[in-house]
Amino acid sequence: MAIFDSHLHLARLPQPLELARELHERDYRYRAVACEPWEWKAVDGIWTGASETGWFEGCGRSYGLHPMIAAQVAEGAINGGPEDLWTELRRLLESDPNTQVGEAGLDRRYAGYEPGGVQEKVFRKQAEMALELGRDLQIHCVGDYGRIIRVLREAGFAAGLKCARPDSSIKRPRPVFHRFGGDAGIVKAGLSLGALFSIHADTLRKKATREALALIPREHLLFETDADESFIETLVATRGSGDAITPQDVAVMLEDTLRDVVARFSPSPQRG
Ligand SMILES: [Zn+2]
Repeated sequence: MAIFDSHLHLARLPQPLELARELHERDYRYRAVACEPWEWKAVDGIWTGASETGWFEGCGRSYGLHPMIAAQVAEGAINGGPEDLWTELRRLLESDPNTQVGEAGLDRRYAGYEPGGVQEKVFRKQAEMALELGRDLQIHCVGDYGRIIRVLREAGFAAGLKCARPDSSIKRPRPVFHRFGGDAGIVKAGLSLGALFSIHADTLRKKATREALALIPREHLLFETDADESFIETLVATRGSGDAITPQDVAVMLEDTLRDVVARFSPSPQRG
């Protein structure tokens, strides 16, 4: 299977190490995204422990602070305080030049969403980090896409950007709109910043988003499952039996889900 799953929460799925092997054997490539400190540690542990096996060939990682956790970060409630957290995030990012930043962003369902609030501050800091280190930025947005665009611009994102650091593997840090749900205006604004847009099954549900996808050149499109705990709940519900979920079951459902997203996204003729 040649399609790349651009956003997957490996550490939130059962038996992640066995799953990594299973996915490798099936040629399923993905980016393992970690949203908060326990997940950073889990992904880093799996990766470091098993990278010599070749199970992560063609895969990637991303570490960041999700808006769901932003308010707690500001309160210094995690791992001894915000300083330690930013230092640890930087260490993880610097340990592998191919690692991306995020997921980071805004979500109106969580504390600190208001304009200028803690979610925005935590997002801005990660946008700046992505620019400084020359990394793509995985963006989560449930709410105001316009504000995301504004913060990206203010942080310095632009099309054709060159990273200042010569050791960086990515010379043009790009915003990656994960589980994209914006409209045509956001697509145009995002493209002006060199953005990539990642298509999830949910992306295809909203008419305005579906229509906006026709404006995106093929090379700016990605596909994803965003598989996490809720993915497994769905798997359990659809099976309707009490049998234990195996890594093989998860792998098959990931393949089916990703294939289905790609199939339902029918490219328009004018797209290159
Ligand atoms: Zn996610």
